[in-house]
Amino acid sequence: MNTLELEHRFEEIYGKRAEHTYFAPGRVNLIGEHTDYNGGLVFPCALSFGTYLLIAKREDRQNRFSSVNMDRSYTANANAFEDKPTAWIKYPIGVMKEFAERGSDVWGYDLLYYGNIPNGAGLSSSASIEVVTAVMLNDVTKVHLDMTELVKISQKAENDYVGVNCGIMDQFAVGMGKANHAIALDCASLKYEYVPLHMEGYKLVIANTNKKRGLADSKYNERRSECEQAVASISSRHPITFLCELTPTEFGQYCTSISDPIVYRRAKHAVHEHARVKQAIDALKAGKLTTFGQLMNASHRSLKDDYEVTGIELDTLAEEGQQLEGVLGSRMTGAGFGGCTVTLIQEEQVDRYIREVGKIYKDKTHLEATFYIADIGEGARKLN
Ligand code: ADP
Ligand code: MG
Repeated sequence: MNTLELEHRFEEIYGKRAEHTYFAPGRVNLIGEHTDYNGGLVFPCALSFGTYLLIAKREDRQNRFSSVNMDRSYTANANAFEDKPTAWIKYPIGVMKEFAERGSDVWGYDLLYYGNIPNGAGLSSSASIEVVTAVMLNDVTKVHLDMTELVKISQKAENDYVGVNCGIMDQFAVGMGKANHAIALDCASLKYEYVPLHMEGYKLVIANTNKKRGLADSKYNERRSECEQAVASISSRHPITFLCELTPTEFGQYCTSISDPIVYRRAKHAVHEHARVKQAIDALKAGKLTTFGQLMNASHRSLKDDYEVTGIELDTLAEEGQQLEGVLGSRMTGAGFGGCTVTLIQEEQVDRYIREVGKIYKDKTHLEATFYIADIGEGARKLN
């Protein structure tokens, strides 16, 4: 749906014209997986697809919520903060609650959302709907918060109101993205750097496994606690707060204090993945896409063998992709166990890649993968 069609839909639903339109992208993490809670760098970029929000003022103290992506519409007032809706409106209402607690009047709007990011695929449609709501509220309530503040508010809404224990990478990439750049982000300090991606002749293709997320949450918590165990073991010899404080060489010196072989492999992934992000940044600054691709492949292998968060679906997509002509690198992205892969590939090989990998994937898993050619877009903003 384009913005003109969305304006028509808004009029159909609310019987009046939309006054403003806002947009927030989805995001994909290019490398640096499971490094955020280990004090390391992540390397996401904003996508050209995302969530649109059209609004108009109302005369009363209610908000009406519709989404092109959802069947049901909802009406809510200030009681919603306590009632905690279970439907999708918990994302925007969580953000509204944060604004209300800061003294803003968030009621009296008709809202229409539309997203072209697949939901629940690890491309952060949740961060996108939160941040687009925050950008809208920042505009209409004229509080003039800067984008990093809107990013923090959105994360807090997801943590406290929606109840998902996510880090800040998603909201940060969605809010702060820059066209044709990835963001090297330290999630603990929020220090960041834009790194240009010179992609002439190459494309990023995202492949969705379309696997239902099952184990992801419990395994995520398990990995976090395994990493905490590794920190405790290493700290008995060499005090650290996070695994990613260590270089691979230092890890080699101190890792003998980890007795559990599984914990050792988890820690090895975190330390080496952080080192790979730094190498990836250097490679991209030097225009070495081939090196970047090799780092993507190494990242996938580490997530498969050491961190054990892949599975047959992600492995098939990534490993079959890596075999094909014109593919520089392919890896799982996101927390794992499902979700998507991201592949760096020569533009003229994209069709063949989609055809061949799609077929092998279907034969092996009996699932249909969905492919998206991703352009790296701007962060969240007001469109008009
Ligand atoms: P992800 O962030 O990986 O896409 P999540 O489970 O975190 O997956 O968030 C997906 C949820 O966000 C959806 O189930 C829905 O509740 C909400 N959501 C995202 N985009 C939209 C949209 N355009 N309209 C309505 N709800 C949306
Ligand atoms: Mg999400």
